[in-house]
Amino acid sequence: MTVHNREIAAAFARIADLLEIRGDNPFRVRAYREAARVLEDMTEPVERMVKDGADLTRIKGIGKDLAEKIKAFVETGRLEYLEKLESEIPASLLELMKIPDLGPRRVAVIHKELGIETVEELRAAIETGKISSLKGFGEKSEQKIFHALSEIPNKKNHRMLLADVAASASSFQKYLEEQPGVERVSLAGSYRRGKETVGDLDILVICREGFEETVMASFVRFGEVARVLSRGTTKSAVVLRSTLQVDLRIVERSSYGSAMHYFTGSRAHNIAIRKLAVQNKYKINEYGVFEEGKKIAGETESGLYEAMGLRYIAPELRENLGEVEAARENRLPRLIGISDIRGDLHMHTTRTDGRNTLAEMAAAARDLGYEYIAITEHSRKVAMAGGLDESGLRQYMAVIDAENEKIDGITILKGIEVDILPGGELDLPDSVLRDLDIVVGSVHYQQRFPVRQQTERVIRAMDNPHLQILGHPTGRLLNRREPMDIDLERIIEAAKERDVIIELNAQPDRLDLPHNYCKLAAEIGVPIAVSTDAHSTENLLRMKNGITEARRGWLTRQDVINTRPLAEMTGMLRRR
Ligand SMILES: [Zn+2]
Ligand SMILES: [Zn+2]
Repeated sequence: MTVHNREIAAAFARIADLLEIRGDNPFRVRAYREAARVLEDMTEPVERMVKDGADLTRIKGIGKDLAEKIKAFVETGRLEYLEKLESEIPASLLELMKIPDLGPRRVAVIHKELGIETVEELRAAIETGKISSLKGFGEKSEQKIFHALSEIPNKKNHRMLLADVAASASSFQKYLEEQPGVERVSLAGSYRRGKETVGDLDILVICREGFEETVMASFVRFGEVARVLSRGTTKSAVVLRSTLQVDLRIVERSSYGSAMHYFTGSRAHNIAIRKLAVQNKYKINEYGVFEEGKKIAGETESGLYEAMGLRYIAPELRENLGEVEAARENRLPRLIGISDIRGDLHMHTTRTDGRNTLAEMAAAARDLGYEYIAITEHSRKVAMAGGLDESGLRQYMAVIDAENEKIDGITILKGIEVDILPGGELDLPDSVLRDLDIVVGSVHYQQRFPVRQQTERVIRAMDNPHLQILGHPTGRLLNRREPMDIDLERIIEAAKERDVIIELNAQPDRLDLPHNYCKLAAEIGVPIAVSTDAHSTENLLRMKNGITEARRGWLTRQDVINTRPLAEMTGMLRRR
């Protein structure tokens, strides 16, 4: 195991906060805070010093007592003193401390004088004017605190974007994997299913016998933890600074597969599996599959599915949308993977609202191993982004031709993301659209038409033989904007009749076409283009978010046009 300097520093800083809230001796508080600062800045790993038997009191600001604590921390991965303080002081007080203008000393005052322990209690106290009457507070700081409170998001029903959770999820996993006694760490829940948004993160851990306490201590000590909600021997819960709730469960190796299955869900999928178990006279729960009290499966997920007479079902499919039947009849799709992708058909450059130049985008795509990309700038109607008119587009087409001459190893297609106007007309004349390699058409304005009008508008746009790919078909922005009222089933059927490809836009807050309609499109036989709509070279990596949604939509390599080599791909675009 490794204990990093910054972890020790974080633990000392936390001790300082807790001591200050408790109203402890200011010198002691300062000593911990100073030690935290020194450790944070130190480049030499303290862990190694301990192992080498070095004298830690040589470090500036570290006395005998703190040196002992560091040594114990490095050797056991725990800090008993911190655990003791945490058990004495309500965790909600630490949360209060993060409110601007509060800090540990003032939290100590409101706690001592008014008995306030939670955000709700603080809010109530402000509303009744109790805070401003406290010594050292006054109306001005009451106002400030009140304002800060209104910024605290209402955590209920708030789901974070999968892509926003991904970074902390993987660093949390990696951190846990390094802790003493930990043998295996897995992420479950809707995160594992690749759902577009995640309510909370579920982590399952297998650990060596006798290490349960240590693992829990490590869990609540993770650097991003803002608040400990509960702490037990097999289950604990914390809230990260990002407001994400994380639950950790320690599970037995022999039940690992069952626990993974149970905590991955979805609920609907689990209910379908349980029904199947009952039909077979089995009992199934998070510990295993049992036949007349005897355990017949549970160590692995595939063993569990096998016991139920099913093929292994990928987590992305576990939504009870037909996957159980398909697994029984051995007709599950062979899901697309990121390595199947050969090109990206929707992106912007500095010519409109992108952040990287044409040359940079092309080079980055080539470095990803792509064979081709399409540059699809905005059209004139999207004036905010500097959308192109016919002459601007013609000029840029010449620039792309020149770049194609220069660059090796990738083909740049000349495209446009032409705006679909309110009446369904395209924002640029056919005379220029016909000279492009690829035309994506998207709605950007007037997204609140009634369903019939919106559907007619888009079908009318698809009537134009130059429109080849329908971009972000619902216009949804997750957590920010509802999808348009549009009859997607009719749209997909109209696309089929007209040989139009439908885009699955991979931006993490779009993921548009939604997965259930990806599935429908594949059933109807409309190919999908998984495109990043990148506005920077970095954004090209969002392809993986699109692929996750595609997998949730049962898509295979065959269903997606940009898995094809260039000539085959262009051959699938409608002729005009
Ligand atoms: Zn767009
Ligand atoms: Zn775009």
